[in-house]
Amino acid sequence: MELLSLNRQELRKYMESLGYEPFRADQILKWVYKKFTTDFSSMSDVPKKLREELPKLLSVHCLEPLGRVPAPDAVKYMFRTRDGHLVETVLIKERDHLTLCVSSQVGCAVGCTFCATAVDGLRRNLEVHEILDQFLQVQRDTSERIRNVVFMGMGEPLANYENVKRASEIMVSPWGLDLSKRRITISTSGLIRQLEKMASDRVMKELNLAVSLNAPSQELRERIMPIAKTNPLKELMRVLVNFPLSRYRRITLEYVLIKDLNDGPEHARELVRLIGKYRKRFKVNLIPYNPDPVLPYERPTLDRVYEFQKVLWKANLSALVRFSKGADVFGACGQLRNRSVVKFKPHGQESEVGR
Ligand code: SAH
Ligand code: SF4
Repeated sequence: MELLSLNRQELRKYMESLGYEPFRADQILKWVYKKFTTDFSSMSDVPKKLREELPKLLSVHCLEPLGRVPAPDAVKYMFRTRDGHLVETVLIKERDHLTLCVSSQVGCAVGCTFCATAVDGLRRNLEVHEILDQFLQVQRDTSERIRNVVFMGMGEPLANYENVKRASEIMVSPWGLDLSKRRITISTSGLIRQLEKMASDRVMKELNLAVSLNAPSQELRERIMPIAKTNPLKELMRVLVNFPLSRYRRITLEYVLIKDLNDGPEHARELVRLIGKYRKRFKVNLIPYNPDPVLPYERPTLDRVYEFQKVLWKANLSALVRFSKGADVFGACGQLRNRSVVKFKPHGQESEVGR
């Protein structure tokens, strides 16, 4: 059984079923989620007999570390699942904290035309323990505590709703990773039905929400994000406008700026009109496109990026330009896909990037 997919109540019940007191579960969870010790033999307050039994009953790590690629302000980790899929996770060094960008699926079925993750389609959803093990393994390799998680790696988190929900619940539980709900961000391409589900879910509705808008009109959005056909922009905006937000909380609209496609001042004006009177509810993140060798898109000049931003500012919208960290070395969010250019070396050693 996978320890990381169990919640506290389930592990307590399991301990009872083995003939142990339920509080043994709390001891184990403390070692795993507070001390990041995943070796049962060193859980010193757990009775010796149980310590010896546990490795046969429960497994903690399910991902095999393949290597890490360091960049000046980020480290990319590569893992292999038991059935041989590659999973990528990026640790991002912000000015005063660390953020972990986790994957929720192997590949993605959404099919955005500009995104490298979409190229091979969806292989499968990641399980709860595979999502959490990305955190545990990177945390074990990092001296500073990671307190921020963004679901911006491979995959569409809301297309793997139940697993992302359970993993997030364990992340925010006091007995689990004990992260603040505000420090977990779900980034979605805008799946309307799942967003409605999220809006009425006790834990999910409290998490940060980022929506990849990427275009200000239905027509343009459909061209680069095929899911827009079944998830129309008008309806998406209606759901976002009604999404429950506590005071001071805002929804992030992500907008990847692609040269000569969606990066003109006329697009910025259209975006202003789309947001209309709801400008206090949203903030816009402008992400200059990271070109990819297999995709026909380019990054606009910085002048053009700032011109776009100025139009939003003039309309009193809050808009930040965000450069994806580590992009020069290994691509970035949306580009996390195994490439032959990366030579794997065992975990803990530097990996090379050979082009
Ligand atoms: N599937 C989710 C989360 C993963 S993608 C989503 O789409 O939101 C995370 C972000 O990376 C999205 O905002 C996406 O638009 C962006 N992205 C994808 N490819 C990119 C690229 N080549 N350059 C810059 N951003 C990219
Ligand atoms: Fe999937 Fe997000 Fe990439 Fe679109 S941008 S294909 S939703 S990972």
